[in-house]
Formats: sequence, structure tokens, C-alpha cells
Amino acid sequence: MCLRALFILIVLFLPEYALSQQAYKAGEVIVKLRSESGTAASYAFLGKAHSEKSMNLKHSWNKFGMYHFAVSKGKSVEQTVAELRNDPDVEYAEPNYLLTKTNDVGIEQTYSAQQVEQMVESQAASTLMTTADIGLDQTWSMMAASTVSAQSVIPVVAVIDTGLDPNHPVFRDSGAIYKNMAEVNGTPGVDDDGNGYVDDVNGWNFVDNTPTMYDDDGHGTHVSGIILGVGQNIFSAPYAAAKIRIMPLKFLDANGVGSTSDAIQAIYYAVRNGATVLNNSWGGPSYSAALHEAVAYSYQYGTAFVAAAGNSASNNDSSPMYPASYDVPNVVSIAATTSSDNLASFSNFGKASVHMGSPGVFILSSIPGGGYGSSSGTSMAAPFVSGVAALMKYESPSMLGYQIKSILFAQATTVTNLTNKVYTNGRVNSTNSINYAKTAGVDSSQPNYTLNYQGSRELASSLAEAGGCGMVAKLAKDGSGPSDGPQSWSVLLLVAIMTVPMLVWQMMRERNPENRRRFERFNIASDVRVKFGDKELVGSVSTISLGGLQLNTEAMLEKGGVVAMTISSPDGKEQVQVEGKVVWSEAKKAYGVAFERTPFSTLERIQNWTRSLTKA
Ligand code: CA
Repeated sequence: MCLRALFILIVLFLPEYALSQQAYKAGEVIVKLRSESGTAASYAFLGKAHSEKSMNLKHSWNKFGMYHFAVSKGKSVEQTVAELRNDPDVEYAEPNYLLTKTNDVGIEQTYSAQQVEQMVESQAASTLMTTADIGLDQTWSMMAASTVSAQSVIPVVAVIDTGLDPNHPVFRDSGAIYKNMAEVNGTPGVDDDGNGYVDDVNGWNFVDNTPTMYDDDGHGTHVSGIILGVGQNIFSAPYAAAKIRIMPLKFLDANGVGSTSDAIQAIYYAVRNGATVLNNSWGGPSYSAALHEAVAYSYQYGTAFVAAAGNSASNNDSSPMYPASYDVPNVVSIAATTSSDNLASFSNFGKASVHMGSPGVFILSSIPGGGYGSSSGTSMAAPFVSGVAALMKYESPSMLGYQIKSILFAQATTVTNLTNKVYTNGRVNSTNSINYAKTAGVDSSQPNYTLNYQGSRELASSLAEAGGCGMVAKLAKDGSGPSDGPQSWSVLLLVAIMTVPMLVWQMMRERNPENRRRFERFNIASDVRVKFGDKELVGSVSTISLGGLQLNTEAMLEKGGVVAMTISSPDGKEQVQVEGKVVWSEAKKAYGVAFERTPFSTLERIQNWTRSLTKA
């Protein structure tokens, strides 16, 4: 039996297609090198790319060895990608695919603020947004009763979209828009927080590369209104103080189209600037290893990544839609449902890869200019779930995206109409999910995720070119599927026989709690000064991870209490300050503390320390 042939066929069934399947940006490619940035090999490649291939660097993600280039004018993207894939220094090379908003119809009907005020007089405001029974009314009452205190952590939701009308009273008067305080209090024209973006007071516009936010499509303002509207009335003034913050990151243009490189920049921006829920009402059918990498990065930092499943009425299990179809454990893929909990006629579905339904038909929300509009799409369904996730985070600030996803799944309302259409067979339930998050213990663990972008297109083509088993090699080369001949059916059967046990193994592995691991924990012996209330004490740290640490002290710490800690590095030369919540305690004065509100720069320093430590 030719194993190589089988492998190539399996590879063919991975989400890999011809380059032409999805439009991409003319004259641009994304490349990842095998060597890390800043090494001699990476400099040599950049020099060669510039001088020999006339490729101009547009952006680099140094940490990942990833680069965005403009290619030489005389050469096509296909040619350049093919050449780069043959370069031994290159891990992967791909076109800069275009991505589109997952709401094709735009705004269906518009209403002035006054008209909506009048509608509220004759019907419950919560039913304006949706009449589906997701628990909106109870959620509004519950959130109204939950008062914001000095201890409250207001979660930030990144809306990676077409932008936002910041002057819409719903956002302006509720204080719902994210503020980057270093830039608010900083000097105009200066990158006060050193994040690479000058004057990014409320987020960033990646289309124009400016801090100026606007919404020339209307999609982002509509999506943002839904996210805010899960927790409060957005239809009649005065608007209550928001319990979440919207971080608008504009990467889709006036036609609702954006590039993969800008989407990646927006995801990195969101994670690095403290967003904990990322709403992604957009996508495309082509697999991008670079975008996959960005989503995996968002998982590493404990965010929830909510994505629209798409509006092609197709099965994502067989025709994936990205980013919704990446198998990263923080991705929640959302189908659109009607007010009677049927799958919307346009919505994508998928027993394995689409997770739950959420209302997405005739949803009323804010539009640019101060009014309201109704719209339909999985674009409208995803933000309900993002809103719920954010309020779960509000109630339980140190909860990670992975646990939020598990609770969303467990608390979804099972509906017969969704049986075998989505993974949970259910539709989101806002009140039950938030209530559960409020009382559930925080799990600082999440499973390890190994990003596997190899074994896809690059490998398939190189194996095919190396020759091998005639027919299959040819199939891999010309990119077409197997014909209906008996020979290919027998090979297909073999593939199925080989694939099923793999899938079963994967499922069992995911369900077995033994395989769920914390953020990697490391042994450390260092001092820590701990402040709780007006008391201060000295203790020691025995293990540390990016999620928290084990603290040993003679003092009694209360479970649930918030502590401020100054931790010394293993060599004693450096200190970081970090806040945390006591999540467990043991008899011998050992406490588990989960980090809270930890700036990205602090986590990076802790990660640097762990390089010299042994795994716990
Ligand atoms: Ca800045």
C-alpha cells in the first residue's frame, strides 16, 4: 500500500484549495520564515527578498517570524507564492486573501431614534432586538441590578469590523467605547503606551492606518449595538452606564471587504491591548496559515474568539469558512436562527464545526447617524454570543475564553430544529450562561493547543512533485478531486477507515480531563510581597504560569480576595507588579492566585523568566 498516496489524499481533504478560490489583494503576499526574527538567517532572507525578488516589506510580526510583502510588479502573486514555497527558508507563503462581512444584505430597514422610542411604548424594548427566547429581558434586569464598583473589571470586546460611529448616543452616552488611558492622558502625536500606534485613544483604523474611527458601511455599528444590547436597553434614552467596552478595530472598508494582513494586525492589537472577547462577523473560504496563527495567539492569552459561521447555507464541516472553522479551542462558531429557533435559510451549519445558533434574522440595532436599522446574517448572530461572553467575563473577570465557551455550550437551550445542525444542538441562552458564570468556580486551565499548519498545501505539492503513486500524485498536483472511478472510491474508503479512528481519538482526548492542562506551570523559588487591603506581607512563590501562581505564606488569605503582588524574577534582578484573585487554598498555607488585569508587557516578562525554569 502506498502510504504516501493516502497521506496526500488525506491532505486533499483538509481545507486546502486552489489559490483562485478566494480573491486576494493584488501584489501582496504573507510569508513566514523557519528562522526567528532578528537572526542572521532572517536578515539574509529579507535582504535577498528585497534585492533579488524586489519584494518590499509592508509589515512584520517579529515575534512570529511573519512578514507582509508587496511583490515585484512584473510578477504575479501565484508565481511569487510558488517560488517562495520552494525556498528552504520559508515555512509558508500565501496570498493576502480578502475577507468579507458576513451580512450580504446590509441594512434592511431604517428607523429614526424617535420612531424607535415610540415602538418602545407599545412593546417590550427587549423584543425589538429579537423575539427569540434567549433570555434578553431577564438579562437586562439582572445586569441592571449588578452595580459597578471600584473593584469591577469592565471587559473589553474587540469588534473587528467596519468601524463604529462613536457619536451614536447609544455608545457615547453609555460610555461604552474603549479608552486607552495612556493615550487619553498622553501627548498628541506620541505613541504614549509604546504599542506601535500613535494616538490610538479608542482603537485603530487599519484601513487608513489612523486612529480616526468612523463606519462607512454601517455593519460595525450594528454589530456593536447588538453586543451592548445584550446587557441593556439600547432603544430608549437615558442609556445606563455600560458594563462592557467596545474596542472598534476597523479593517473592513466601505464595501465590507478587508485583507487578511489587516485582520491579523487587528487580532494582535486586540489581544495586546486587553480585549478579552473578540467578535468576528466576517470570513472567507480560503485557509490562511497566518490567520490561523493569529487566532491561536488569541487563545494563548485566554480570550474568547466568537466568529460568524457564514451565509452560504452550506455545511462548514465539508466547506469550511475561516476564521469560524479553525479548530482553535477558543473559537465559538455561530449559526443564525430565526425568532422561532429555526436555522435561518441563509445560515451555514455543521454538526462538528458550527457550535450553536443565535438570533440573526431582522435584528434591530444601532446604525451610523444616531438611528436604528434591521439587518440579517450570521454577522448579527455572533455579537449576541459575544455580548453574553462579555457579561460572563464581567461577572467572573478571571474566567478564560475556553471556560466561557464550555459554559455557553452547556447552558445553550436545546432546540429540536437544530438537531444535528450544530454541535450543541442548541441556541445561546444569555441569562442561564451569565448566571452560571457568576457562581461557577474559575478554572485557570485550558487545554494545550498545537497549531498544525504543516501537512497542508505546501506538503501536498512538494510530495506530489517528488513523484510517488501515479494517480494520487497527479490529483494533488492539479488540485482536482478524485474522479468517480472504482479505484478512487476504494481509496476514499481507505481514507475514511483511517480518518474515523483519528477523529474518535481526538474527541476522546478532548473529553478526558486528564488531557486538559493548565497554562504550562513552572517551578520557581522567589520572593513575593503581597498587599491585601491595607496589610502587606512577604511570602514565596513555588510555581508560576501565565495564568497565575502558587503563593506560600503564613498569613490567612480569603478565597475570592484580590491581592496586589510584587514578584521577584528567579535571579532576583527584576520585579513585576501584578494583581490577582485567590482562587484556591490548601492547609499548608498554600494559595492559588489567578492573575487579573495583567498588562501584556508583564505577561511577556513572566514568559521570559520561565525560559530558565523547569516545568512543574
Ligand atoms: Ca499607542
